[in-house]
Amino acid sequence: MTGGTTLRIDREKLWNMIAEMGEIGKGAAGRTRLALSWEDLEARRLLARWMEDLGLDVQTDAYANIWGVRAGRDAKARPVVVGSHIDTVRDAGMFDGVMGVLSGLAAVRAMNEAKVETERPVAVISFTDEEGGRFLSGGLAGSRALAGLTDIETLKTKRSPEGKSWVDALNESGFVGNGRLEPHAYLEYHIEQGPALADENIQIGVVRGVVGISWLRVTFRGEANHAGAFPMNRRHDAGLAAARAVVELNRLALELGQGAVITPGQLNQHPNLPNIVPGEVVLTVDIRQFDPVSLEHGVNRLKEVVRTAGEQEGVAVKVETLVQTARAAFSEEMVSLVERKARELGYSTKRMSSGAGHDAQILHGLCPTGMIFVPSKDGRSHCPEEFTSQEDMGNGADVLLQCVLELTGPFESAD
Ligand SMILES: [Zn+2]
Repeated sequence: MTGGTTLRIDREKLWNMIAEMGEIGKGAAGRTRLALSWEDLEARRLLARWMEDLGLDVQTDAYANIWGVRAGRDAKARPVVVGSHIDTVRDAGMFDGVMGVLSGLAAVRAMNEAKVETERPVAVISFTDEEGGRFLSGGLAGSRALAGLTDIETLKTKRSPEGKSWVDALNESGFVGNGRLEPHAYLEYHIEQGPALADENIQIGVVRGVVGISWLRVTFRGEANHAGAFPMNRRHDAGLAAARAVVELNRLALELGQGAVITPGQLNQHPNLPNIVPGEVVLTVDIRQFDPVSLEHGVNRLKEVVRTAGEQEGVAVKVETLVQTARAAFSEEMVSLVERKARELGYSTKRMSSGAGHDAQILHGLCPTGMIFVPSKDGRSHCPEEFTSQEDMGNGADVLLQCVLELTGPFESAD
């Protein structure tokens, strides 16, 4: 018997693998591996090779989710699943998603080298189309499919701006298989993508869950008029109403506090010409918060704010809900497992929610699920400047390994 608590991942090896995968799809600014693009497929082939090198049984399912299984003593037991995704946004950094998948492989390597046997199998997974940007699929497509929340018929309707359908790209990928993954538990290790851990100098973020999200579309309908001939005091300027709303929404987010964030992200003016008073403006607003009661309150206040902005300019306001995603609150046993293992390793911890969406929020509906965060430099992500130090990366990967050892049941070394 060896003490599993002494097992550690090989940090340098993990760092080098992240860097090697980061070369795939690399351009002048960052790397681009949109879901099921040839760059994504190239990265998948490298991942599959690394899985095979570690002796994992590589499998894929009908949605090209790819995972490698390290056998347990109980062949029928459901596996402990760890992972994330290796597709990226355009001009991405090299850590988002990739670090979680490759840290799973690093954990397997450490277990192999120490000849650790576990009761349950371990599966390291990369989900298809986490980012959602290429086909405007909304993201998390592979994990949603695994959970039965989307299917081929729905994905057939998702197309890239060039007209390529999600399902055609899937069928051409060479990664469609007939595997079926039934997780016992799921753990996702990811960069924070915000500045909280770095600002407070905390090593490990213990993720309680993923925030609820509402997207609203606000249409301001005023009157288009001549910019020269029509007087200021008789205008119904939709642009001005939208501008008031944007300023007031920022004030509202600060007033709501408790982690509320509001982003008026998209603003389209019509007719959008230099010499015409804007007749109509369509504004999208993204609001997120972990506590569902507070989020509902925030959405109601938001509607009041945009209506008031419209009234002040004599402009009609219509509010529609585009997307409403309930928050995912992870099970306490998984949250406290991550916290306990991080503390046993001597790391500082902070319980926090994730403002970004992750496959874990979908897996949460299938099995006990948790997440581990480590600091992102300056809170930056989805950009070439995204950075996590080798030390922080290694800390989180060691926490992941220790959690896997506990979740897979009693373990022992063969020697
Ligand atoms: Zn990610």
